[in-house]
Amino acid sequence: MTAYRNVRLFGEPVLREKAKPVEVFDKKLLSLINEMFKIMEEAHGVGLAAPQIGHPLRLVVIQFEDNRYVLVNPEIIDKSKEQEEFEEGCLSFPGVSVNIKRPSRVKVAYHDEKGKRSILEANGLLSRIVQHEIDHINGVLIIDRANKRERLEALEKFSEFLVKHNLDPSLTREK
Ligand code: ZN
Repeated sequence: MTAYRNVRLFGEPVLREKAKPVEVFDKKLLSLINEMFKIMEEAHGVGLAAPQIGHPLRLVVIQFEDNRYVLVNPEIIDKSKEQEEFEEGCLSFPGVSVNIKRPSRVKVAYHDEKGKRSILEANGLLSRIVQHEIDHINGVLIIDRANKRERLEALEKFSEFLVKHNLDPSLTREK
């Protein structure tokens, strides 16, 4: 249970907000980034968006292979026509995974933690993680990209997870 202690779960309104751009690159931002990496690692995640810990900001951290990525105000500026389907989970949806089709490759413009503009070209699993996290800062969740049957199954599994962990079952009902 501890793994999910600090991560906001599906049903919490902050996960549905369109997050605001980061405008100030200061020590506070750096400490938020450190906190995000810590929480992501504790939860054994590969990516985390700031809204998932209650901050409606356009900020994403990723741990992929041996690299750490900090994407501030990321924006997809190009994507491949070619798509791939892959099973995705989400720290805000423990116990759930759904198949999602996404562009195989994306090009993302972003700021680093010091405010420097940069471009990331990603393919394979990294491309998928980046797109999943950018969805989060736009208030989009994996169930929104699943087909109807998988969406219902996912909500059912999530509901079981809540019951099993004595969490508020009304979380599965979005208002
Ligand atoms: Zn997620």
